[in-house]
Amino acid sequence: MYLLTKNQRDFAVTEAEKGRIAIKQRGYTIPAIESHQITPAFSEVSGSFCPTKRDVYLSRVLKLRPKLKEEMVKGGIVHSSVALVFRAIKNAQEKGTSIEIVLDTLKDMLSLDEKIVAALWQENRLSDLQSLCKQNGVSYEMELPTYIKIVKDIIAFETYRLGASSKDSLTKIMDVEEYIDGADLGLSKGRIDSTVMIGSQTIIVCDLKSKSFGDNMDGKVQIAGYALAIEKKYNVPISIGCLVFPPPRLLENNEPQREIFVIDDALRSEFISRRDSVLSILREKTPPPIPAGMQRKCIKCGQYSNCQSLKQEN
Ligand code: SF4
Repeated sequence: MYLLTKNQRDFAVTEAEKGRIAIKQRGYTIPAIESHQITPAFSEVSGSFCPTKRDVYLSRVLKLRPKLKEEMVKGGIVHSSVALVFRAIKNAQEKGTSIEIVLDTLKDMLSLDEKIVAALWQENRLSDLQSLCKQNGVSYEMELPTYIKIVKDIIAFETYRLGASSKDSLTKIMDVEEYIDGADLGLSKGRIDSTVMIGSQTIIVCDLKSKSFGDNMDGKVQIAGYALAIEKKYNVPISIGCLVFPPPRLLENNEPQREIFVIDDALRSEFISRRDSVLSILREKTPPPIPAGMQRKCIKCGQYSNCQSLKQEN
């Protein structure tokens, strides 16, 4: 998913140069803020389901657990599987191991279910799946093969794409699922899907999404938050973000869709402004209103039943 095409790499390098000159607001220049008793996650600032952040209020202030949704569990398993592959590529790049050895390792993973299961288990993904099955009253043993197939399909897809890539121009994988401390931004830890490097100085923050939504604003704002945190931690400028959408069918010649963009001052300010709204909800402990026109969407929200109970209480 994170191996960019030549055109995408060229585009990123050109845009990074523009960003280096234009962007004023960097993580290492903005002042740290005082931490609050409840620190929200990066995803709660920019990626929560509810436009008014009522879902964040329910889980953080009232400490009500959201219901697990099938798409979330599937999304988690896709993320873990992609991470498994890219960790192998990263390790090989660091050790100077040949890509053929990585390809052999990945092919081995395809024939060993237990290895995959064990790797996923470490990520707590299978415990999510167990909870989902329990919640929905279905058999975990019956569901497991469907999820193992998702893992295998991803590994097979990535193995093919790695094999087909030009070996001397591979994107350098800097990190995979790196935890980043959001404390200076008033946030908890965030987990960045991947950071990659093009050439000697263009660092790109990548975020894997299940679907593209119009202008993908939430995803871009979330990457802006990660960029601010990385800049603060490593004191390096990050100017480019990349949203990655797996193809709907993991066929060998289906390229993932990628949106590469400059993490400009507008996105950075939007992240800070959304963070301040979430912090104020958590500080004041006042339930945000139910947004208008959400009736049909609300049913898909993990906090739907808790939200309805709160509505009846008020
Ligand atoms: S059910 Fe609707 S109003 Fe309630 S938290 Fe979820 S999205 Fe927001």
